Amino acid sequence: MSKLVTIAVPCPLRRGFDYLWPESLARDAEIGLRVSIPFGRQQLVGVVIALDPVCDIPSNKLKAVLSVLDGQPSLPTDIVQLGRWAADYYHHPVGDCFQQMLPVVLRKASPPKEKPAQYWRVSDNNEALPPIASRAHQQISLLAVIRQAGQLSRRQIKDLGYSNPVLNALINGGYLQQADTPVAPSPQDSDSGPVLNSEQQQAVSTICGSLDQFARYLLDGVTGSGKTEVYLRSIAECLSRGEQVLALIPEIGLTPQTLERFETRFPGQVRALHSGLSDGERYRSWQDISSGRARILLGTRSAVFTPFQKLGLVIVDEEHDASYKQQEGWRYSARDIAVKRAADHRCPVVLGSATPSLDSLHNVGQDRYQLLELRERAGHASKPDIRLLDIRQQNLDEGLSKTLLDATQDTLQAGNQVLIFLNRRGFSPLLQCHGCGWIANCQACDAKMTAHFGRRELRCHHCDAREALPSICPQCHNSQLIFQGPGTERLELSLKRHFPEVDVIRIDRDTTSAKGSMQSLVDGIRDGRPSILVGTQMLAKGHHFPDVTLVGIIDIDGGLFSADFRAPERSGQLLVQVAGRAGRADKPGRVYIQTHCPDHPALLTLVSEGYQPFAQQLLAERQLLSLPPVSFSAVIRADASTLRCAEDFLSAIRAALAPGDNNWSIVGPLPAPMTRKAGRFRAALILQAERRPILHRQLAIACHTGDGLSKHQSLRWSVDVDPIDL
Ligand code: ADP
Ligand code: ZN
Ligand code: ZN
Repeated sequence: MSKLVTIAVPCPLRRGFDYLWPESLARDAEIGLRVSIPFGRQQLVGVVIALDPVCDIPSNKLKAVLSVLDGQPSLPTDIVQLGRWAADYYHHPVGDCFQQMLPVVLRKASPPKEKPAQYWRVSDNNEALPPIASRAHQQISLLAVIRQAGQLSRRQIKDLGYSNPVLNALINGGYLQQADTPVAPSPQDSDSGPVLNSEQQQAVSTICGSLDQFARYLLDGVTGSGKTEVYLRSIAECLSRGEQVLALIPEIGLTPQTLERFETRFPGQVRALHSGLSDGERYRSWQDISSGRARILLGTRSAVFTPFQKLGLVIVDEEHDASYKQQEGWRYSARDIAVKRAADHRCPVVLGSATPSLDSLHNVGQDRYQLLELRERAGHASKPDIRLLDIRQQNLDEGLSKTLLDATQDTLQAGNQVLIFLNRRGFSPLLQCHGCGWIANCQACDAKMTAHFGRRELRCHHCDAREALPSICPQCHNSQLIFQGPGTERLELSLKRHFPEVDVIRIDRDTTSAKGSMQSLVDGIRDGRPSILVGTQMLAKGHHFPDVTLVGIIDIDGGLFSADFRAPERSGQLLVQVAGRAGRADKPGRVYIQTHCPDHPALLTLVSEGYQPFAQQLLAERQLLSLPPVSFSAVIRADASTLRCAEDFLSAIRAALAPGDNNWSIVGPLPAPMTRKAGRFRAALILQAERRPILHRQLAIACHTGDGLSKHQSLRWSVDVDPIDL
């Protein structure tokens, strides 16, 4: 008789499906095998997630698996377990979870034949060749990198920021020859790094003292305190035990410099996994790690699902970063799943940050995480001097106060660089008619259009609607249209006017959308000439600007008074991260923060005492109000063509849930802070519980109810467990 299997089928239903495993398949069923199955009128690719399920459907009503797609299971059992756990935890359809956990090329029935990667090394007769022309800097530097690494694949070379023409020039010149297969070099071939300071040493020995067991560490240290060095040493120890490492980095932090640093330390052992790679390239990294051919995976969010042969250490850098939380569909937190993986593999996990999340600090307070602190900056850079500039009743020049302009002047004169931070791109966030008061609003959202001067456009930053910048008021035909408030584009122009003799470099989504443009802008700054950098939060991550000695922060007040209780935490992190981009040992930095609320208690604590006391103060407030991370929450969101429709749906869910009590509360349905977005009306139901099991019990009821309700055809809804915003 045929056996039964449960399959994760890529469909929006919140369950697995049982199928017959016919004798004709001529092999046993195994967990993690990819199979082809009939589903409705389609033929889909699914994954076997359970064997011999208890099934109350008579077997003559069940369909049979059509074929097995691979010789071996694509996913090992630990990853299948993880997927099932995560589907439960996030109350998300298990088939979609598995679909996302598989590399894109494995979502189709037949994965492409794997092309072996081509590796290059310095050619044997390289000494005999004429030297490379001294102006070909890129070629010279690439040759040095390859010599150091022993050998590198075309992919790795590209990841390090070298273009194909540069590589081809070296190949054509005979400087390189093809290497056979990558060989793992012995550890002593590679650079072993600087002598650690005592705090780093302490951190490394604590982490390495627990490589055999599940242990959670929060590595708290300002930018430049040597966290990465701690990771690298712990990784080296882990590799020497024959184990592998998973290191997660926020998308924007995975720069060629980061990769190069890992690659130089561990030549040939590192694979990258991020959205800049093609599907084929991602698949190759995935295979190299899951087969054990490579030891270190350096990747962004989705890399957390990669199978490992022998995972010995998990690292999550910049653990507070919001990009670890997927913000649509399956709203998982890669940071939290990374901790789960370490638990499954009984190995340590290190969460690192200069501005730890309140979640992690709370876990430290509860003795769940052990705190490892790096208080000094490695290489002895001093702490920047942070000051609040009260701009109430001051005349601002396009958003810039006189004090900030004067300080900019001094800094440039001293031959240094200035960074001006404003988290708002475009020319101006608001266009208004001086005649009648008309405001350029988005037609589809409850939001104002942002003026983009260079492109002569009004744009909505929420739905991407665009229209031409009007020259007269559409309402009263007055030509006096005024731009209220600055964006980065306006600051750039204004600073160019004030300081015509220096370069003003703007970094935001508009100036860095072309591939490689971020890198060339950053290179321009790193050459050290006096210049001014203007930008959004893209400046707060990944890059260090050693010649910047003045940081001006234009407007953070918005973050202090948001509807979302998490906003002050995020503003404080952003502020500290921006401030931390600047300065080095011989060039201490100054940070000026313009504000209308110089007496704001949290802001004062942040400036005078630093991030830790600031965070503890916020945590105490959360404690008092019983807000996460002290309690646990979830948001059920719905959007539809009318607000009524979205609210009715959520009300019906609410009616099915337990009434609020001491341990459990429901708020809503409430209209979302921006109720109308891209023409759809949005509402939310906020659930909060003292303990996780209570929350999950209610969420299960909510999902069951929501799935069963008859819905207006325009209605969409989603569940967000451990949300990071409203
Ligand atoms: P973080 O990751 O905390 O920003 P890094 O590990 O990148 O810090 O260290 C900042 C800089 O200091 C790097 O250039 C690194 O090579 C250097 N560095 C780190 N640790 C030491 C040390 N113990 N001695 C000298 N230089 C160090
Ligand atoms: Zn008007
Ligand atoms: Zn819009």
